[in-house]
Amino acid sequence: MAKIVMKFGGTSMAGTERIRNVAARVKKEVDAGNQVAVVVSAMAGETDRLVNFCREAAPLHDTKEYDVVVASGEQVTSGLLAMTLQAMGVPARSWLGWQLPIRTSDAHASARIEDIDCTALNAALASGEVAVIPGFQGVTMDNRVTTLGRGGSDTSAVAMAAAMKADRCDIYTDVDGVYTTDPRIVPRARKLDKVTYEEMLELASVGAKVLQTRSVGLAMKEKVRLQVLTSFDDRPGTLIVGDDEIGENDVERQVITGIAHDKNEAKITLTNVPDRPGAVASIFTPLAEASINVDMIIQNIAHDSGSTDVTFTVPGAELARALDALEKGKDTIGYERLLHDTKVAKISIVGVGMRSHAGVASTMFKALGSRGINIQAISTSEIKVSVLIDEDETELAVRVLHTAYGLDAEDAA
Ligand code: ASP
Ligand code: MG
Repeated sequence: MAKIVMKFGGTSMAGTERIRNVAARVKKEVDAGNQVAVVVSAMAGETDRLVNFCREAAPLHDTKEYDVVVASGEQVTSGLLAMTLQAMGVPARSWLGWQLPIRTSDAHASARIEDIDCTALNAALASGEVAVIPGFQGVTMDNRVTTLGRGGSDTSAVAMAAAMKADRCDIYTDVDGVYTTDPRIVPRARKLDKVTYEEMLELASVGAKVLQTRSVGLAMKEKVRLQVLTSFDDRPGTLIVGDDEIGENDVERQVITGIAHDKNEAKITLTNVPDRPGAVASIFTPLAEASINVDMIIQNIAHDSGSTDVTFTVPGAELARALDALEKGKDTIGYERLLHDTKVAKISIVGVGMRSHAGVASTMFKALGSRGINIQAISTSEIKVSVLIDEDETELAVRVLHTAYGLDAEDAA
C-alpha cells in the first residue's frame, strides 16, 4: 500500500464527464489498495473568468478580496469530485484550504505555503476515505483566504505530498509528459522517461510550460517523486527525479536532455557606458529596485574612448518599466544611447550530461552558424547554455539543435 497524491489540472476537471473520468482514475488507485489525496484545479478557463470579474468590479481591487473570488473555482471542482467519487461508491470528502488548514504567508495573490496540518487528513485517509483538496488556495494566520499565484495548484500538490510524506505525486495535465522540445515545432520530439529536478527547473523556466516552476523547486527541496502524465489515456508519463536516479554515464542518455525556447524576452543595449568600477552597478541597481529580473548580460570590451556597450535581456512584459528606470538613471549611469529590441528569442539546451562532457556549447554554436543564425548574447549555467537570436529564426534553431544533439525520434510521432 502506498500513499499517493494525484493532481488534476483544469482540462481534466472541465465538466461532469471529465470529472467522472478523473474519479474513475482515483478509484483505480483506491482499489489497488492505496491511500489517495487528490488535489484539483478549477475547470479550464474558470480562473481567467473570475479574474476578469475582479477587473470589471474594480481595476485596482483589494488582493484580499481577489483571493476570495478566484479561490472559488477550486472549491467547486473539489466538491464535485468528492460527490462523483461518492456516487461511485468510493468514500470521499473535500478539505478546503482553511479546513486542513494550509497556512500561507499573507502575500495575497502570490502567497507561499508555510505549513500544512495533516492531522485530520491522515485520519481521513486511514479510515479509507479519499481526501479531495482544492489546489491554489490556503489561509493566513488570521484566517483570510489566499491564493498561490497562477498555476499554483501544482505547488499545492507538491506541498501536500511533502507534508503527507507521500510515496508519489502524479500530476495529470493536458500534455502526456515532458518532451525533448516543443512537439509543435519538432514533430520528431521524443517524450522523456525521466528528467532530473534541475533539468526540469531549467526547462520550466525557459519556456517548457508543463509545471509551475515553483512546484519543481519545492519537489527538489523536499525530494518528492513527481510524475507528469495525462488523464486522457494510459500511456506512461515522465518521471521527475533526483540526480542519483539517473546515471550520468547511462549509455541510453543523450548529453542534452531538452531544448527550450522563449520568445518573451526583450533585449536592451546601453551604448558608451563609462568603463569604470561601479558603472555596471549603476545600471542594474535601479532595475533591481523596480523588481525587474535581468537574465542574460554581456559587456563588450572597452572602446579606445574608455567606454563600453552593455547588453542584457529582461522579460518582455517588463520592458517598458525597465526603459523607464534606465531613462531616469541616465545621468547617473552616463550612457549615450538606450536601444531595445523585442524581436529576439532565447534558445536553451539543457542537460546534466553537460557536466561530464566537453564541447557541448561549441556543437551548438557550430550548428547555428552553419545555418546562418547569428548569436546576439550567450549565458550558461552548469547544465544549460542559452543563446539569444532573431525571433524569426526560433523554429529553425530549435530544429537544427534537436538534430545536432541526436534527439530526433527514429520515426516521426
Ligand atoms: N486555477 C488556477 C489557475 O488557473 C490554479 C491552477 O490551476 O494551477 O491559475
Ligand atoms: Mg497548470
